[in-house]
Amino acid sequence: MAASTDRDLQFRDPEKAEQLSDRLEELMAEIDGRVDVMHVCGSHEQAIAKFGLRSVLPDGLSVRMGPGCPVCVTDMPEVDEAVALAEDGKIVTTYGDMLKVPGTAKSLADARDEGADVRVVYSASEAAEIAAETDEDVVFFATGFETTAAPTAAVLADDPPANFSILSAHKYVPPAMEVVAEMPDTNVDAFLAAGHAAVITGSGIFEEFVDEYEIPTVVGGFEPLDILLGLVKILEFVRDDEAGLANAYPRCVTEDGNVPAKEALWEVFETTRGEWRGIAEIPDADLALRDEYAQYDAREIFDIDAAYEDEQDPLTAKCISGDIMAGKADPDECELYGEECTPENPVGASMVSSEGTCKIWLEYGGHPDL
Ligand code: SF4
Repeated sequence: MAASTDRDLQFRDPEKAEQLSDRLEELMAEIDGRVDVMHVCGSHEQAIAKFGLRSVLPDGLSVRMGPGCPVCVTDMPEVDEAVALAEDGKIVTTYGDMLKVPGTAKSLADARDEGADVRVVYSASEAAEIAAETDEDVVFFATGFETTAAPTAAVLADDPPANFSILSAHKYVPPAMEVVAEMPDTNVDAFLAAGHAAVITGSGIFEEFVDEYEIPTVVGGFEPLDILLGLVKILEFVRDDEAGLANAYPRCVTEDGNVPAKEALWEVFETTRGEWRGIAEIPDADLALRDEYAQYDAREIFDIDAAYEDEQDPLTAKCISGDIMAGKADPDECELYGEECTPENPVGASMVSSEGTCKIWLEYGGHPDL
């Protein structure tokens, strides 16, 4: 995380945090029952763990992470495709968090150790720059939600080099919330929606969801006061028995979002059915390139042979990361947590990414005190 600025500190004021914590206590007393909130962003989990926010929550208020880690929901066959392209001699570029994510048989880091040309980049545009400097095929393994999909779209709409393509594993958050909301064994009374994705799509994107599922939803930022304020707004909705929508992150999120970025996103991508690792196959939650951009689609250009089905690591079958992201389990309920599965030797993607609950819990001790 970047060094703190004065602006950050405004949102970490202990006195204000105490006031908001007291307000949460009052609201829970009025509600007089249990409230289960799901947040949908790895950065929320990071902030909650780092600042020990669970220790200031009143009894009966539970906040757990949903499918909000983009690396964690990238499906194994998608990693397999990237590995196959790398092994086939393409220059594969991707975000650093993706390197160690296990595919069915191996990760991109494994492929690189075996001689494949796998490079870490910070953006799709950096990957396109690599393509501009070589005659080799350069594939960007494009992962993440709306926040990274929009910049990927902008690069593709800007006429990148012909030897540049993307392997899209981009995903779209709202349909995943619908799937989690419908799961019979997941209790979600309210959502703290992902502020990062909403910067692009706007808070208004959740209106239909709130209307249809009647679940209070509040867009939240990532400083401690942002999160506590988001929870206060959620509890006010719950107390009033109202399925409302609120934006508790107005300094970054507007109702309409970033309109040019949103337009680029939907010009280049369309939604399609796709598997979210360990969670479910979800209609309209994967982002695929539209036909107009097929010349940049690695799946259209290359004959990708990624058949590793028989070689799966037996430990992987014990990974309960999907249950964790569906709000059904906590990391310390996994028998591999911190023993066979560590950031150095991750078994599941949730232990790889800085946005993965397992790695965050191991780093900050699960429910640390302030
Ligand atoms: S500790 Fe590892 S194996 Fe267990 S759920 Fe987390 S990522 Fe999966």
